[in-house]
Amino acid sequence: MNTYDIAIIGAGPAGSIAAAELAQAGFKVVLVEQARCIGKQVQCAEFVPRIITRYASLGSLDIAQLIEGIQTWIQGEMIHILKAPGYTLHRSHWDKQLADTAVAAGAELQIGTRAVGWQNHSVLTLITGRAKQLIHCQWVLGCDGPGSIVSSWIGNPSQTASISLQYEMGLTKPLRHVAVHFDPRYFGGYAWVFPKGDRANVGIGIHCSYTDKLEQLLGIFCNDLINQQVLPDFTVYSRTAGRIPCGGLVESIGAGNILLAGDAAGCTHPVTGGGILNAVISGQLAANHIVRHFYNEPEKIAANYKTDIRKEFGSQLEYARHKAVVRDGRWMKAQEEFAALIRSSWVAFPEYYMR
Ligand SMILES: Cc1cc2nc3c(=O)[nH]c(=O)nc-3n(C[C@H](O)[C@H](O)[C@H](O)COP(=O)(O)OP(=O)(O)OC[C@H]3O[C@@H](n4cnc5c(N)ncnc54)[C@H](O)[C@@H]3O)c2cc1C
Repeated sequence: MNTYDIAIIGAGPAGSIAAAELAQAGFKVVLVEQARCIGKQVQCAEFVPRIITRYASLGSLDIAQLIEGIQTWIQGEMIHILKAPGYTLHRSHWDKQLADTAVAAGAELQIGTRAVGWQNHSVLTLITGRAKQLIHCQWVLGCDGPGSIVSSWIGNPSQTASISLQYEMGLTKPLRHVAVHFDPRYFGGYAWVFPKGDRANVGIGIHCSYTDKLEQLLGIFCNDLINQQVLPDFTVYSRTAGRIPCGGLVESIGAGNILLAGDAAGCTHPVTGGGILNAVISGQLAANHIVRHFYNEPEKIAANYKTDIRKEFGSQLEYARHKAVVRDGRWMKAQEEFAALIRSSWVAFPEYYMR
C-alpha cells in the first residue's frame, strides 16, 4: 500500500494550491482528481476580483480580459455600476497551471481517479477506471467541490446549493463590465453576462427547486440579449452547469485528520455565488495549518483551522446567508417592490450592508 503524508481530493483551485504549499514544505502529497483532464470540465463564469493576485499568481494566458466593475440590471434596466476591478479568467488554463505548479513542487497527481472511501482514519480507497487502490495517509484534505464526499465522511449533510446553467457565446462588441440581471422569474438568483474578449459566459443561477425551468429561462435571457444586440445570434460554443453552494460554511470544517477547503467547506458566497478567491484562501489556510502543526494532535489542528476559517469568512458568509434567506422568503410577495428587494439583498448596493 502506498503511503502519503497528505492526500488532497480535488484539483480545483483549493486543492492544487494546497498541494503546492504542502509539497514545497517537504511533505509527501498525492493530489487526486476524478476528471481525466484538469480544467476540461470547469463549472464557472470565471470572474475574480483583482485582489486574488495577492494570493495566487495569474499569468497572461490565464486572463481572458480585465474587468472594470459590475453592472446591475433589474427587470431589463441597467440601474447601477459598481467599480470592482478584476479579471475574467481562462479557468481551464489556470486550473491546469495550478496543478502543474503542485506537481513541479513535488506532489504526485493522479487524474481520472475518484476517492470513494475512508477507513480507520488512515486508509483511502481510490478508483481509477476499474482498478481499485488503497493508500495510507496521515491527513486528508477535502477540496472536492460542492458535492464533497470527504465532507460526508465527517458527518456533514449535503450542502444547500443553487443550480446553474451557462453557455459560452459570441459578443457583438467587447464589454468592460460583468453584468448581473435580476428578474422575478429568476427565483433566488440572477442571470449574467461575463465577457471574455469576443465571447462571454452567459448564464443563470437560481433556487434548486426551479431546476426544470433553467434551460427555458436561459433561452429567454439569451434571446433578450440578441434583441438588445449584445449577442449576435444563438450560437453556443460550449455549455456547463453546476451546483453553487449557498448555505455558508458547513457545520464541520474539520474533524479527526480531515480538513475541508473551498466549495467543499461552503466557502462560496451565498449571494454572489463567487467562490474562487475563497477557495484559494481556504486551501492556503488548510495547508498552513498542516505544515505548522503536522505532528500535533489532529483534533487540535482541526479546531484551530475551524477558528481561523470562521475568522476569515464566518461573519461575511453568515450575513450573506441570512440576506439570501430573507430575500427568498420575500421574493414571491415582493413583485411590486422587486427593485427594493434586490437593493437590500445584492452586494453592489449600500442597502445590502444596512442591518
Ligand atoms: C456556473 C458557475 C459559475 C460560477 N462563477 C463563478 C465566478 O464567476 N466567480 C467565482 O469566484 N466563482 C464562481 N463559481 C464558483 C466557483 O466555480 C467555485 O467556488 C470554485 O471552483 C471552487 O473551487 P474548489 O477548488 O473549491 O472546487 P472545484 O473547482 O469545484 O474543484 C473540485 C474538484 O474536485 C474534483 N472531485 C470532486 N469529487 C471528487 C472525488 N470524489 N474524487 C476526486 N476528485 C473529485 C472535481 O472533479 C473538481 O475538479 C461558479 C460556479 C458555477 C457552478
